[in-house]
Amino acid sequence: MNLKTSELDPTTALQRTVVPAGDWWMAEIRRGQHLRIVDVEGNEAADTLFYSLSDPRHEHYSAVDTTTRQGNVYLTTGTQLYSNQGQVMLTITADTCGRHDTLGGACSAEANQMRYALEKKPMHSCRDNFLHAIQESGYGLTKRDVPSNINFFMNVPLTGEGGLSFQDGISGPGKYVEMRAEMDVIALISNCPQLNNPCSGFNPTPLEMIIWD
Ligand SMILES: [Zn+2]
Repeated sequence: MNLKTSELDPTTALQRTVVPAGDWWMAEIRRGQHLRIVDVEGNEAADTLFYSLSDPRHEHYSAVDTTTRQGNVYLTTGTQLYSNQGQVMLTITADTCGRHDTLGGACSAEANQMRYALEKKPMHSCRDNFLHAIQESGYGLTKRDVPSNINFFMNVPLTGEGGLSFQDGISGPGKYVEMRAEMDVIALISNCPQLNNPCSGFNPTPLEMIIWD
């Protein structure tokens, strides 16, 4: 954990958008711009992907590159988010939550069924949000272009045996994570609609996205 607050003032932001629980948000973030994701009411999960704006079909966020290059499975202030081409896409510059996951993946119809119950399969999921978003985006992306994602604000400790345990969140109302784009990127964020695990406190709530120039 590397807690750090930001100097950036939301009243001077270029863009502020509240994303209701279960919705998705997509935006282009230019090199040098900052993106802050605010966990407005606390205990929410922001399932996040980044694509290179210049070549979204071939360069995207890579959980494997990010965790192996930094030798740490958790993300916090100072973490560089790498692409599958080995380039730094963004750097986390502030973090008031302290722990973010990139191993747990996005919730999906299949995971709902496996983890919870057969009748949970049709429930709304982040994977469905990602697929809807890329289809509507006009960037030419397909379902092959949905790699392993980041789960900002999600607490998924790695156990001693190498397993994952989805735990009650350590985030709280107003906590945020902020990053600086090191290249022009497309951000795609699913505000997790999951009702079956503690990552969203069984009660999904809004996120706010703030961009500074
Ligand atoms: Zn989800």
